[in-house]
Amino acid sequence: MQNDSNYKLAQWRESTDSGKLLCTLCPRYCKIGEGQAGFCFIRQNINGKLYSIGYGRPTGFAIDPIEKKPLHHFYPGSGILSFGTAGCNLGCKFCQNWSMSKAKIADSNALHVTPEDVIKLAKKHNVNSIAYTYNDPTIFGEYVIDISKLARDEGISSVMVTAGYIDKNARKDVYKYIDAANVDLKSFSDVFYRKLTLSNLKDVLDTLLWLKNETEVWFEITTLLIPEENDSESEIKKMCEWILTNLGDSVPLHFTAFHPDFKMTDKPPTPQKTINNARKIAISEGINYCYTGNVYDPGGQTTCCPACKSKLIERDWHSVNSNIIKNGKCPKCDNKIAGIFVP
Ligand code: SF4
Repeated sequence: MQNDSNYKLAQWRESTDSGKLLCTLCPRYCKIGEGQAGFCFIRQNINGKLYSIGYGRPTGFAIDPIEKKPLHHFYPGSGILSFGTAGCNLGCKFCQNWSMSKAKIADSNALHVTPEDVIKLAKKHNVNSIAYTYNDPTIFGEYVIDISKLARDEGISSVMVTAGYIDKNARKDVYKYIDAANVDLKSFSDVFYRKLTLSNLKDVLDTLLWLKNETEVWFEITTLLIPEENDSESEIKKMCEWILTNLGDSVPLHFTAFHPDFKMTDKPPTPQKTINNARKIAISEGINYCYTGNVYDPGGQTTCCPACKSKLIERDWHSVNSNIIKNGKCPKCDNKIAGIFVP
């Protein structure tokens, strides 16, 4: 029998008539039998109780530029302490980080790190924010809550880098102390979502609507473009129309390039012209801030004022070369720039 004394009891769970435990953290709603783990591997039924066995078990830390998350309108040029755990609640065939997302805690080199330790590390490196990233932080929600609460007390921001596949009640808890998020919108096709990510589009759109309408969380959207899977002009237009109608024109949108990986090695890397073309479509549809990623394209990574078109933040990959935004405004025409900037 496994020793459960070191594990954190799962916050989102119900019992069922079958004796299995229902995990209510994400819309997969795994029913988990004795000794078994859910789809994400890190929520486990041990001796009839559901535990978050990923709690306090990051697989490693890095100090990243915030541009790498990517977030281009949240303290640009600042450093962010980044970590994730093993496991994931999605099943993306094209996962770009599958050595972590498909790992089990026992087989990974997971550390033992308390929330207090994470804060100490963030302070030691003098970063502005902490990113819950690499795998999907939804699955270690209890750990996110405990760290982000402490972080807020210390004036450190918390950032979710997520696919947005989370239960509508659980997200109110997990995002309570979150300041910003980058949400993957992996496609605008439910067939794509079901076949290639084993999740669904509707729940992700619902999270985006909730972030917009019911929270103060600053968020940006990323779409990884995969040749012939989600890169058609019509799909990109449909996605942009939905964003414009439901979220407005000022949510930054990032199109990033795929590289063949995991179970999708039969596709070529995304050509740069596909990424550039998607950006052009988004801008012509009316999206104010659209960026390219995973390609060398300083023009596509520059923030311009939507009103007077002045260059405001110039980037080179993940570095900020210049930033002339003052008090959150364009210094040339005084137009307010969406986002959170240092004064
Ligand atoms: S968080 Fe994990 S265990 Fe819970 S429902 Fe989602 S995939 Fe299943």
